[in-house]
Amino acid sequence: MAKIQMKTPLVEMDGDEMTRIIWQDIKDILLTPYIDLKTEYYDLGLVHRNETDDQVTVDSANATKKYGVAVKCATITPNAARMPEYNLKEMWKSPNGTIRAILDGTVFRTPILVKGITPYIPTWTKPITIARHAYGDVYKNVEMKCPAGSKAELVCTDKDGKETRETIYNFECDGIIQGQHNKSTSIASFARACFNFALDKKQDVWFATKDTISKKYDHTFKDIFQEIYDNEYKAKFEAAGIEYFYTLIDDAVARVIRSNGGYIWACKNYDGDVMSDMVATAYGSLAMMTSVLVSPDGIYEYEAAHGTVQRHYYKHLKGEETSTNSVATLFAWTGALRKRGELDNLPELMNFADCLEKATIETIEDGVMTGDLYLLSTLENKKKVNTVDFLKAVDERLKMLLG
Ligand code: NAD
Repeated sequence: MAKIQMKTPLVEMDGDEMTRIIWQDIKDILLTPYIDLKTEYYDLGLVHRNETDDQVTVDSANATKKYGVAVKCATITPNAARMPEYNLKEMWKSPNGTIRAILDGTVFRTPILVKGITPYIPTWTKPITIARHAYGDVYKNVEMKCPAGSKAELVCTDKDGKETRETIYNFECDGIIQGQHNKSTSIASFARACFNFALDKKQDVWFATKDTISKKYDHTFKDIFQEIYDNEYKAKFEAAGIEYFYTLIDDAVARVIRSNGGYIWACKNYDGDVMSDMVATAYGSLAMMTSVLVSPDGIYEYEAAHGTVQRHYYKHLKGEETSTNSVATLFAWTGALRKRGELDNLPELMNFADCLEKATIETIEDGVMTGDLYLLSTLENKKKVNTVDFLKAVDERLKMLLG
C-alpha cells in the first residue's frame, strides 16, 4: 500500500518521561507505516529545554504560528525536585503556559466515551466539552504580602498620566493582595473561539461567571460575550438550531450535574483549569480526553490533557512492564493530522485519522485495554495489556478498517 502523502509539515513538540516513550511508539507502530509523515521537530523534553535556555519552547510556538497546526507531547513543568534530577540551570516555566501566552486562544477539552466505562455521573451520556480561556486572570497575576498597618490600593494611570485610585484594604494585621488583569481583545477572541467551535460541532454554548459579585471584571466577560453573540452569531446559531446560554457559575455547576452533556461549557481560565479535571475524572480518566488550543487566528495545537505519567516512567526505566494509556496522545496526533488534512485538502489523511480513532475505540470496546481502564470497565471479557501491546491491538483493527 502506498503511503499517504502530506503537503505541509506538522509542528511536532516532543516531551518527557513515559509520554515521550509512547510518542515514539505511536509513530513507529501506527503512523509511519501508513503516512509519509512530514513534521518540523522541536524537542521540548526538559533536557533540551535546559540546553537551549527554554528558547526551543518559544521557537516551537512561533513555528506553530507559521504552519498553523502542532501536536504536543506532555512535558515536565519543573519543581524543586526536578532541579537536581535534571541538573537544571533554572526552574523553567511551564511550556504549556509559554505556548498559550504566545498563541493566546482557548483550550477545548472533550472526553472520549467508550462502552463499558460509565461516567461517575451516569446521566452524562454525551460528552461535555470544557472551553478554557487560556489567557490572564490569576495565571498572570501580581501578588504581595502586606504587613500589618499597610494600606493597599489599586491604581490605574491612563495614557495622559491621570490616576484612578481605589483602596483595596487598610491592613490592621498581616495580609495578602493580588492584582489580576484580562484584555477585551482576548475575551472577545475567547468568545469567538467558543461560538465557532459550537457551530462546528452543532452544540450549545454555556457560559458562566460571578458577575453579581464581580460587577466590573466578570461583568465585562458577560457583556463582551453577549455583544459578540448578538452581533455576529445569533442568526447563525438559530439557523443551526443551537443556543447560547449565560448563567451564574454556581447555577451552572448545578445544571451541569443534572444535565445529559452534549454542550460546550465556556470557562474563565481558573474555572476551566479546575472543571476540566473534574469533568475528566467524572467521565473516567484524564487519559480519555482530547485537548486542543485554538487561537483567534485559527491556529491549532493538539495535546494530551494529562501529564508525563512519571510513576510509569520510573517502572519503565527499571525494565518493568508498563500499562500506560496512550489514547489521549493518540487522539492528539489524529486531531492534528485531520486538521492538516482539512487545511491542505487531503481527504485520505482525514480518513486515516477517522479510522485510527475508530480502531482505538473499537479495541477498548472489544475488551482490550490498559490498566487504568481495566479498573473502571464493566465489560465481562476485558483483558489488561501492556503499553505496546495495546498499540499493536489498535494496529490490527486499523489494518482492517483501512482495508
Ligand atoms: P499525570 O497526569 O502524569 O499523572 C496523574 C495521575 O494520573 C497518576 O496517578 C498517573 O499514573 C495517572 N495517569 C495520567 N495519565 C495516565 C495515562 N496516560 N495512563 C495511565 N495513567 C495515567 O500528572 P502528575 O503526576 O501530576 O505530573 C507528572 C508530570 O507531568 C509533572 O512533571 C508535571 O509537570 C507534568 N504535567 C504535564 C502536563 C502537560 O504537559 N500537559 C500536564 C500535567 C502535568
